[in-house]
Amino acid sequence: MTEQPVHRADLRIDVDALRNNVALLAERARRSGARTMVVVKSDGYGHGAATVARAALSAGASELGVAAIGEALRLRADGITAPLLCWLHAPGDDFDAAVAADVQLGVSSEAELHAIAAAAQARSTTARVHLKIDTGLSRNGCPPELWPSLVERAAKAQAAGVVEVVAVWSHLACADELGHPSIDAQAARFDAAYRQARAAGLDPIRHLANSAAVLTRPDLHFELVRPGIAAYGLDPVPQDGDHGLVPAMTFRSTVVLTKRVAAGESVSYGHRWTADRPCTLALVPVGYADGVPRSLSGRMDVWLAGRRRPVVGRVCMDQLVVRCDDDPVAAGDEVVLFGAGEQGAPTAAEWAEALGTIHYEIVTGMYRPRVTRTA
Ligand code: PLP
Repeated sequence: MTEQPVHRADLRIDVDALRNNVALLAERARRSGARTMVVVKSDGYGHGAATVARAALSAGASELGVAAIGEALRLRADGITAPLLCWLHAPGDDFDAAVAADVQLGVSSEAELHAIAAAAQARSTTARVHLKIDTGLSRNGCPPELWPSLVERAAKAQAAGVVEVVAVWSHLACADELGHPSIDAQAARFDAAYRQARAAGLDPIRHLANSAAVLTRPDLHFELVRPGIAAYGLDPVPQDGDHGLVPAMTFRSTVVLTKRVAAGESVSYGHRWTADRPCTLALVPVGYADGVPRSLSGRMDVWLAGRRRPVVGRVCMDQLVVRCDDDPVAAGDEVVLFGAGEQGAPTAAEWAEALGTIHYEIVTGMYRPRVTRTA
């Protein structure tokens, strides 16, 4: 027997929106003389890495960035031939496969440089590396006190032909907080690290800017920028005004049943909501197993039959109930749980706010076994 797909909800990925967002970011970068690397880690922030990669490259991105070597190799297997950078290495990572697939590698330590150089030497080739300085985020990246030694070793490896130092780079901690003093402090450390690299005889490009810095700090664009979230249409700095980004992910389902209930009837587990008058309820076959947080029970709306309507009672594992008053809602009607926000429909940013998190976490967690994704 062939396995039947279980289909309860769709993630619709709007490729035109992806393209428009990337074009807008690439234009900002271009005005500063910078190229654009779009970050497609974590399966393109949940949108589908290969889909986003193709859209981004067609809209003005020159290269792509991911965290893990496996993500980079998957993009190569999907036919993406553009320059790719990958930066977060773990024990057992296959530098040989990365070098063979012409994946550029972030380097945060001498140990990483050594392992990558060895992989390149074994293949009689040159590995392209981006030396990462920790300027204050305190995650990966070389601590400033170890940087002089790292750049010297990298310069030697470059002279020996086993590595090519493409870039010096770093990542900002608070770029989404406009005017945060750490931004300039990180930029100053970054500049010092770059000068040390040049003094060691290297001639790298620089990249530092995430989406928030692409949108608000053109002085930090340097030769390359690395936006992620803004490419997906989610604004990391809405307090800076409307940047014209359009959310590319719409999470939708369908009404499967409607029913009338009398005043006094209660809904869903725990009977947390009771009808105060006769009304129509619509059943939607999507629940917390499909990415609708149970903690949004009683605190979320959906877009259904031309307006926002409240979800009533608890969100269950597989279903939720929408109050439709006396409106003519029917099985088969489309339900938008979040999307681009047209006409005031719910957005991922709205979910994030209600949940006390960021829209990054919402979209990266939406692709689940019973949810299809189409672009
Ligand atoms: N660069 C690095 C190293 C990252 O880890 C990320 C994402 O977290 C980005 C760039 C893109 O950041 P954002 O999605 O905020 O634009």
